[in-house]
Amino acid sequence: MKMPQHGRAWDEVRADMIARGGGDAAWRDGRTAVYVFNAGEDISRIQHEAYGLYMAENGLGPLAFPSLAQMEKDVIAMGLDLLHGPDGATGTMTSGGTDSITMAIKTARDFARAHGRPRDGTNIVLPQSAHLAFDKAAHLMDIEVRRVALKTDGSYEADPAAMGEAVDAATIMMVGSAPNFPHGIIDPIEALGEVAARKNVWLHVDACVGGYFAPFARMNGVPVPPFDFEVPQVHSMSADLHKYGYCAKGASTVLFRSEDLYQYMPFDMAGWSGAPMKTPTLAGTRPGGAISAAWAVMNTLGVDGYREKQGLVCETRQRIEEGVKRLGFDVLGNPMLGLVAFRHPDHHAFALYGEMYRRGWFTSVTKEPPSLHLMLSPKHAEVVDAYLADLEASVAAVAGGVDGPKVDARYS
Ligand SMILES: *Cc1c(COP(=O)(O)O)cnc(C)c1O
Repeated sequence: MKMPQHGRAWDEVRADMIARGGGDAAWRDGRTAVYVFNAGEDISRIQHEAYGLYMAENGLGPLAFPSLAQMEKDVIAMGLDLLHGPDGATGTMTSGGTDSITMAIKTARDFARAHGRPRDGTNIVLPQSAHLAFDKAAHLMDIEVRRVALKTDGSYEADPAAMGEAVDAATIMMVGSAPNFPHGIIDPIEALGEVAARKNVWLHVDACVGGYFAPFARMNGVPVPPFDFEVPQVHSMSADLHKYGYCAKGASTVLFRSEDLYQYMPFDMAGWSGAPMKTPTLAGTRPGGAISAAWAVMNTLGVDGYREKQGLVCETRQRIEEGVKRLGFDVLGNPMLGLVAFRHPDHHAFALYGEMYRRGWFTSVTKEPPSLHLMLSPKHAEVVDAYLADLEASVAAVAGGVDGPKVDARYS
């Protein structure tokens, strides 16, 4: 595209934009179970309006916009309260999970340097199921990543003993997920805490996808094991608002047990021609709308609202689990929140994925082991039966039933 010489009318541009979305995944109908969290029209309208109210304001300037600074403080306080942050715990909003994880590693690295660990040749120790954002951040900072195999008991949990063996004097962080993305399983954070304490290593809990889900699931009676600052060895956490916090995209939180740990995060500099600046995260300019929309959604939903939505998601996951088991699938481990992965003993997940895609479902897959993967939203409560009917048809198609096999040779 070349920039038009004369701008076009907004009505025309708007219509063009809407038409362009016509070929996208049909998330509004609940046929997408990755990328989008559909909490319904009401929440979507609040996100829009609340984002718009502070869209021009900039979180980079807390003195100019005390409104935003206070909303961010409120969001962090709400997050810390849900996640058992002790007195003195603190944190910041970031643009997303990758940003939160990057900042947590940077903070752990600078903390380690300040406490006599080496500057170079450092490493972080993660379970194989941890998010690749850790590798991206480690790549940026030239830190070695040591991925450790999961337990072999079918739980898909991190293996604390094996991770402990991977730790050495140059380890600046151990990681557990609550839950991990590929299997939706919460790692044994208490056991990881014991290893981290014994090895004197920073423990980060990646609750990007579970941080604003698990506390409400627990209130609803789901037996969620301790996974947050309740575990005394947890130094830091990442928890995304733009996932199960149902906030507008561009919103996550990175949280620290104490100011002593947090102090290694902000960047503060005066040695240039411009005014001295201090920024907490990677970003310079920070979109005010992402902060105000998060504040608005949290305040309009409240604990009751989140409990209801997460209850609906858990119920939906249980219906899916029952349905796929009836079709002969095995569910991986014991998922408790909104993610679930399942595989069929006879048919390759990627072939089934292709069949489901052709039937209009845009979901995800897990690679180890090859499985179908769903990240469920409240909207999915309406489409469980349609999904299971199409899954049944897909199994039949892959098995060479009614329509004959249509599997790409690559998948078999
Ligand atoms: C989504 C996710 C991330 C990364 O978050 P982004 O907002 O996509 O950058 C990290 N960890 C887990 C477990 C996630 O589910």
